[in-house]
Order: sequence, then C-alpha cells, then structure tokens
Amino acid sequence: MVKINLLGVQINNESREEVLKKVAKMAIDKEKHYIVTPNPEFIVLAKEDPDFSNILNGADLSVPDGIGLIWASRLLYGKNGLGERITGVDLMADICQMAAQKKWSVFLLGAKEGVAEKCAEKLKLKYGLRVLGTHSGWADQSQDETNRQVIGRKVGHRECHFIFVAYGAGKQEKWIKRNLDKIPVKVAMGVGGSLDFLSGKVKRAPKLVRRFGLEWLWRLVGQPWRWRRQLALPKFVSLALKEKFFAD
Ligand code: UDP
Repeated sequence: MVKINLLGVQINNESREEVLKKVAKMAIDKEKHYIVTPNPEFIVLAKEDPDFSNILNGADLSVPDGIGLIWASRLLYGKNGLGERITGVDLMADICQMAAQKKWSVFLLGAKEGVAEKCAEKLKLKYGLRVLGTHSGWADQSQDETNRQVIGRKVGHRECHFIFVAYGAGKQEKWIKRNLDKIPVKVAMGVGGSLDFLSGKVKRAPKLVRRFGLEWLWRLVGQPWRWRRQLALPKFVSLALKEKFFAD
C-alpha cells in the first residue's frame, strides 16, 4: 500500500529514498507535478475546506510532515501505518542537493522580503545549486498575474525544474493549483516555513528535540504567536480518536 488515507487525506507511505527517486522522475517527466507535505494543521484545514482537500488528494506526492500523522496512522492502521516522518524542510534540502548534483535548477517563491534571497545564497554556497530567481510576492489570487510575470522574466529561456512555494498551509497549495500550468516550471512544492529555516532566519529544533517528535513544541516556544494555529493539534487528535473509536 503506497498511499494511506488519513482522515480524508492521502499520504504516501514511503521511505526518504523512495520519495526522492519519485521526485527525480518528476523532474524529467513531460507532465507537470506537485508535492504536498501535510501535517495535522493541513488535515484539520482540509476537513473544513473541500477545495484544499481536493488539491491535497490530487498531489503526485504527499509526504507526512509531522509526528502527529505517524501517531494517527498507527492508531488507525497499526503496523500498516506510516513508517517514517519526512518533513518538508528535510525533503526540500534533499531535493536541492539532488538538483545540484544533476545540474537542475530551482526558483524560490514566497516568505518575507529578503528571506528567499538569503536562502538562495545559502543553497548556492552549500550545494552549488542553480537558483534561477527568487520573489517574495503575495499569495493572493489578485497578484497571480504579476507573480507569473516576475517568474517568467527571471527564468527566461532556461529550464526550471523546481519551484518551492512558501506561502503557508493552504495558500501555497492553492497558489500552485492556480499557477503551475502557466509558469515555465516542471515541479512545484509547498514548503511552509522552510525558506525561513534554510536561510537561517529561524533556527530549527535541535536533533534530539526532533527525534522525540517535539519540534512543534519548540516552534511554539520560539514563536508563541503560533498558539492559535497549533489549536489544530488537539482538533486533529480528537478527529483521529473519533475515527478510531466511533466510526461505523
Ligand atoms: N507567507 C507569505 N505570504 C503569506 C503567508 C505566509 O510569504 O501570505 C510565508 C511566511 O513568511 C513563511 C511561510 O510563508 O515564510 C509560511 O510559514 P509558516 O511558518 O506559517 O508555515 P508552516 O511551516 O508552519 O506551514
């Protein structure tokens, strides 16, 4: 079973290596593809927003970004649950490393002014990655045309394999759905706060904290304004328990 249905959202149950192999195929495929990285917040949002749910379920690859998903999948499917957590930021870093080796190029969209540029510098330095351009832009639909013009101009006649879109859960996936067919890029991935992390603007939780599945708590302590968004966590837990004990 490659995909698992977790509270209405399809998630790939594959190792980091298998996932990366799939991404490599996408980069050289004729068709366009997009990647999503659901966490508990995505699942709760998708329950309330059928559009978002359809976009998530239409993705070519959907990786479990969050220990909550692993827990819920094991609660519902036992040992057939999800094997491995693959965070968006780790997958983005893996893709960038692979892209650099294969001489593929990328575009960075979103995040606060200056963050994508900083991230591009870091990625060039670390992997020797070809970043064709960056643009913070706005996630709002009224800005789509402008954003597409900027991307088109910066990419020019070169081939662009990946666009990483950092507009936060929901907005970034909707942006990709509306725009991917109209931009000269092959694969799009919504990356949430990954540009903040990879640029060094926000510090990631230490490895030990991550290993214990407490990255969400680290983010809450470092960015307390997140508490409202993290209310999605108890909602997610109650959805999983309901599904386990009360579904017919
Ligand atoms: N963001 C943006 N425009 C928006 C909303 C968000 O550029 O309208 C950026 C924000 O600056 C951040 C990223 O999107 O870099 C989303 O980060 P967040 O930490 O909220 O995402 P998460 O990783 O929690 O999904």
